[in-house]
Amino acid sequence: MRDTFEREITYLRISLTDLCNLRCTYCMPPEGVQKREHGQILSFEEIEEIARAAAELGIRKIRLTGGEPLVRRGIVTLCRKLRGIPALEELALTTNGVLLPDLAPELKAAGVDRVNISLDTLDPEKYQRITRVGRLEDALAGIQAARAAGLTPLKLNCVLIGGFNNDEIPALASLTEREPVEVRFIELMPIGDTASFPPTAYLPCEAVLERLPQLERLPEDGGVAQRYRLPGAAGTVGLIRPLSRCFCDQCNRIRLTADGRVKPCLHSREEIPVRGLHGEALRRQLERAILHKPEQHGVLSAQVRSEAHRNMNQIGG
Ligand code: SAM
Ligand code: SF4
Repeated sequence: MRDTFEREITYLRISLTDLCNLRCTYCMPPEGVQKREHGQILSFEEIEEIARAAAELGIRKIRLTGGEPLVRRGIVTLCRKLRGIPALEELALTTNGVLLPDLAPELKAAGVDRVNISLDTLDPEKYQRITRVGRLEDALAGIQAARAAGLTPLKLNCVLIGGFNNDEIPALASLTEREPVEVRFIELMPIGDTASFPPTAYLPCEAVLERLPQLERLPEDGGVAQRYRLPGAAGTVGLIRPLSRCFCDQCNRIRLTADGRVKPCLHSREEIPVRGLHGEALRRQLERAILHKPEQHGVLSAQVRSEAHRNMNQIGG
């Protein structure tokens, strides 16, 4: 279905939980979040019903996210059910990768097409610092497991943070040299737990182009990333620039939170509850959410924060 600005809405991101096994400093408070009562988050049956209704309205791609989607028990069963929705063309996951060594083969068998894995640094000490509790070797084992299970093409999400990982731009980009992965540098967004970050942390993706002038621009593929390639490389480098280049005109997505609200826009306060609705009422409410997508979100900068009143782990990125 098209929204009021003629954008075709085909992509639903579903947050399965606010909980996470890591505590990235730009996403979550150090103490984590309080576990909700089981009944406070959508059951798998509810998620499937909402996804089916969304597919009837033209959703063709679903991405499961969180918090950390792999900490939600029974996720493989949910994936199998979602993959059974006939109109669905792609089922993907965004994950920190830590639990993939256990789950990757089962997820693939359940019909998950591919995964995006977050990897902000290649330095074990820095990985521990940014995630507060994580071990780089676990994330790398997850990447290896995803590759072995065929959850590909892999995309590696790297939040670019001035003074933290800008010195690793060449090393991270060089992961694309021999393998057909996409390393995506994402500008740090002023949302959630980033209030204490200094203005210098909000580094525009221009820094990647300045550091790697040899990057060759590739044609747009309709996604949110501007794509480049290192000469002769097997993979690609993506730049996602919510601060320095607004991509709202290409936005094709809506988001479902773990507690059953649809967010028409990541950076808006507006949330449209869908929990407890069925049939025609559910369909109409989803249509309403699509029609409420704003033309664009306000300008974001080190000084101007997102209007979303949730942390990233409560939205799903
Ligand atoms: N736990 C999973 C993961 O880390 O991939 C999925 C959820 S996480 C909220 C989704 C994505 O949002 C991750 O790639 C993460 O790096 C990104 N993210 C979180 N907070 C962010 C922020 N303030 N600015 C930019 N990206 C952010
Ligand atoms: Fe967890 Fe992902 Fe947020 Fe990191 S970015 S704390 S892994 S939800």
